[in-house]
Amino acid sequence: MTEDTGTKPASDDGWGEARAMLDGWKGGLNICHEALDRHVIAGHGEQVALRWLGKEGERRDLTYADMASMAARFANVLAAHGLDKGDSLFAMAGRVPELYAGALGTLKAGMVFTPLFSAFGPDPIRMRMEIGGANALLTTESIYRRKIAPWRDEIKTLKLVLILGDEAPDGCVALGPAMAAASPVFETVATAPEDPALIHFTSGTTGRPKGAVHVHQAVLYHAFSGRHALDLTPGTRYWCTADPGWVTGTSYGIIAPLVNRVTMLVDEAEFDLDRWYSIVQNEKVQVWYSAPTAIRMMMRAGREAAASYDFSGLRFLASVGEPLNPEAVVWSEQVFGQPFHDNWWQTETGGIMIANRPGMEVRPGSMGKPLPGIEAGIVEREDGTLRELGTGEVGELALRPGWPSMMRAYLHEQARYDKCFVDGWYLSGDLAMRDKDGYFWFVGRADDLIKTSGHLIGPFEVESALIEHQAVAEAGVIGIPDETAGEVVKAYVTLNPGFTPSEDLEREIRGHARKKLGPAVAPREVVFRNTLPKTRSGKIMRRLLKARELGLPEGDISTLETDET
Ligand code: ATP
Ligand code: MG
Repeated sequence: MTEDTGTKPASDDGWGEARAMLDGWKGGLNICHEALDRHVIAGHGEQVALRWLGKEGERRDLTYADMASMAARFANVLAAHGLDKGDSLFAMAGRVPELYAGALGTLKAGMVFTPLFSAFGPDPIRMRMEIGGANALLTTESIYRRKIAPWRDEIKTLKLVLILGDEAPDGCVALGPAMAAASPVFETVATAPEDPALIHFTSGTTGRPKGAVHVHQAVLYHAFSGRHALDLTPGTRYWCTADPGWVTGTSYGIIAPLVNRVTMLVDEAEFDLDRWYSIVQNEKVQVWYSAPTAIRMMMRAGREAAASYDFSGLRFLASVGEPLNPEAVVWSEQVFGQPFHDNWWQTETGGIMIANRPGMEVRPGSMGKPLPGIEAGIVEREDGTLRELGTGEVGELALRPGWPSMMRAYLHEQARYDKCFVDGWYLSGDLAMRDKDGYFWFVGRADDLIKTSGHLIGPFEVESALIEHQAVAEAGVIGIPDETAGEVVKAYVTLNPGFTPSEDLEREIRGHARKKLGPAVAPREVVFRNTLPKTRSGKIMRRLLKARELGLPEGDISTLETDET
């Protein structure tokens, strides 16, 4: 890795193509410069960078020049309040243009940006702000009053609270007037490639969230992967539906699209089927990046709900966050004329690692192949060393570290970080299999693996079979202890409209699974629920289903979103 010298990284590290996509800035590297200023300097200031669709039907177009000056104003506001290079800003502000400009302005000021979900409760927010040593906060008045004001004074590091809009409670600064008064010119703080830029908290699916630290150099990989895994080219009309409160919403909801000079759509509203379909149609979305939970909601509404829309503008569809069930791939091909392309990565990797890339043959149920420059392997741990497994064998998915957007630390958790690296590999904690053609197939998280009568079962396989039943919308599968089999499979499902829970239906679903999977793998029991427990980023929290089943402590549930029995 390059030393922190303020010079461009060496050019022989394999990322030359990505580097050629960028500019570098006075010998340094700054994400905001690459995402905004560079395009303005190159004469593209008048291109629309961000088209904002408000909840109430408002619409605002912001050009690259507009965004660049908003970011500069924001950076000036931070500087005017004594904030400096290396300081940390947290943001929870919903999907409004000021959040996007604020993220980039923070980076322009050389500060570290951390997004959180606006829907987090007071405790998760506080915990993360304490861990991150927040110096500044960007939020709304309502979030501030309800969730932050009661304990704000206890966060001793916090110097500045910026409130969206024209007015602010005592002790806070209203962003509107502050931005209006600030200069639209700000000299980008010289950041070195290895200077910290972003801290992202992991989703907390498997336990207490970790704060993954990413550096400015990550932008090389955002540029590269945006181009090659998502087909982002200048002018592409792109819609990433991820909330800006987590890594997808930043890496591919802010940085990758802007660096690739697309026109990105930002919809302020939450998921609504007709609204989403109308946006894709009316805005002529070309590249659409979403997640399995959203796709399953579309599937739940049925084909008819999509029939009257024109989706002919779509060129490339991609999905991340959870395994994408084969059923969803096939369905989307029929409904949109394009399959959703699954891709795999983590908060830690900062960018897409394995993908069904444009032009590749899609194998429904597979995550695709590693991106150029990424070496992935399937390994098994053996007394402190690793053994690489061959094709067809299930083991832990591992990556050779060295790509630019890889995390550089878990904040204040050196030991937890060190444990991720063995024998020159980064261990992902996920289990997968590689087929003879080099496609990777997700099996499950290592923690979620079920061992029954000598078989190893990944929940994904069972869940995918369950949702092929016409009544089942979503499924979460766990193993529960059993005297004879070691563990047996238990499933929790939600139902499609028009179906009601009954003993007959339970038996029918079990029968369907038995036919698909065989008796050893099929669930012994199927429980109906209104929703499955999920993280704010839409991931099923199987560990919570299991803890409850076994009467164990629930552990960290700070990211829990939906949860109705
Ligand atoms: P935590 O690490 O706190 O338990 P998390 O792993 O859910 O939470 P993220 O970094 O947001 O936090 O999610 C990355 C994980 O999401 C991956 O390790 C994997 O388990 C899952 N995932 C992401 N994309 C895919 C995919 N395409 N197929 C299967 N699983 C995926
Ligand atoms: Mg994880």
